Amino acid sequence: MIPVQGYAGRTVAVLGLGRSGRAAAAALAAGDAHPVVWDDSAVARDAAFDAGLDVRDLTKPGAFDDVSCLIVSPGIPHLYPAPNPVIAAAWDAQVPVDNDIGLFFQSFATSDWNDFDTVPRVIAVTGSNGKSTTAALIHHILVENGRPAQLAGNIGRGVLDIQPAHDAEVVVLELSSYQTDLARAMTPDVAVFTNLSPDHLDRHAGLGGYFAAKRRLFAEGGPDRAVIGVDEAEGRYMANQLIEGPGDDRVIRISSGQKLTGQGWTVFARKGFLSEQRKGRQVGSIDLRAIAGLPGAHNHQNACAAYAACRTLGLGPKGIEAAMQSYPGLPHRSQVIGEKEGVSFVNDSKATNVDSAAKALQAFPKIRWICGGLQKEGGLDALLPHLGHVAKAYVIGREATDFARQLIGAEAEVCGTMDRAVAQAAAEAQPGEVVLLAPAAASFDQYDNFEARGDDFISQVKALLA
Ligand code: ADP
Repeated sequence: MIPVQGYAGRTVAVLGLGRSGRAAAAALAAGDAHPVVWDDSAVARDAAFDAGLDVRDLTKPGAFDDVSCLIVSPGIPHLYPAPNPVIAAAWDAQVPVDNDIGLFFQSFATSDWNDFDTVPRVIAVTGSNGKSTTAALIHHILVENGRPAQLAGNIGRGVLDIQPAHDAEVVVLELSSYQTDLARAMTPDVAVFTNLSPDHLDRHAGLGGYFAAKRRLFAEGGPDRAVIGVDEAEGRYMANQLIEGPGDDRVIRISSGQKLTGQGWTVFARKGFLSEQRKGRQVGSIDLRAIAGLPGAHNHQNACAAYAACRTLGLGPKGIEAAMQSYPGLPHRSQVIGEKEGVSFVNDSKATNVDSAAKALQAFPKIRWICGGLQKEGGLDALLPHLGHVAKAYVIGREATDFARQLIGAEAEVCGTMDRAVAQAAAEAQPGEVVLLAPAAASFDQYDNFEARGDDFISQVKALLA
């Protein structure tokens, strides 16, 4: 655990008692602060009380009188579509609002570092898609190259749950827009922006607010190095703002698909090859086609981002390439489940939005596509240009009929449930084809979360392969 610094002897309120809220309360107490906690759910409050926490009704007038700061969980809206009333009350009482990420950055460095040969570093990864894959890949590469590393944030452990850093350790954080929007302190050594596409628009009042939340990591965080995906206008804009001159290599521009030119530092992937260029010359390259755990142009973007982040720490191209070869992949992201009679089965249940599903649809040449679920804002139109590799769609979810109707140009069958979709797709698949779950929708109409949906796919496929 990282004991929180800066609040000793003071009262700090914690709103939301999920994983990050409970960890924040414990880390505050470890730093000699007095946490008072609240959650809208009575069940969560009772559990906190039973665990010995000081439960305080933060909705009552005067609740903030002695409070120095309010720590908020990422799931709780602080601004849009409307501020949670407790957060609004904190503002009225002029109490600063922060989150566990802010507490982490304020507390991570300690006087123990005086004795270290190499100070610990933090790499923070944000973006619409590919955050988890990129963060996990960076972590894997570091560990394989003998650098002590911990992975935390939106993936793995909560940031305050990690161990205080050892000599030369690197902490890799995956940060969502909810987290970067609110954190007061955000000072990574290396910040990574993978890409931007519309998501979570209700929480940010549109794409502009969503981008502004992610941009805070770079604009207000002031990292030493910024790795920025420039395949969308937002990334190009941000790189342009941060670069002070053509040869400024504090910014590393990355792309999947474009050859990046110029005097600066770039890493890009084209036709399956990664190329690193500095001052207009190639200084490293990798054949990504040989890397099984990172299929498709979208994963090549993640590979470029991870490669660039690791290069900033001084790792060499060969060591990075060797580690990529052994990257095992994350569950529910381009996860190969098995193969039968030349047909492979891939679980990409995490493709919960149109953009990530479109990327998955380009990663394999011929696809039996299992899709559907709770549709997100914006409809499915953005998918239509990417249906070229789809032999047939097998649509699940409560809205399956409406979903199938929108897939103009692809043969689509309404299956409704996962078992029927898997059985039908497997029965019709030809050797060389891939049965791919990439829903392009949220899972909540039929499952608790995307993991449960992916697990259902896996168990149906395993039964079939047995
Ligand atoms: P995040 O943590 O940002 O949600 P993940 O690495 O968990 O990202 O990947 C989520 C989904 O997005 C995957 O299932 C995959 O289909 C897709 N994806 C992964 N990387 C990218 C990328 N660089 N660009 C677009 N889509 C991606």
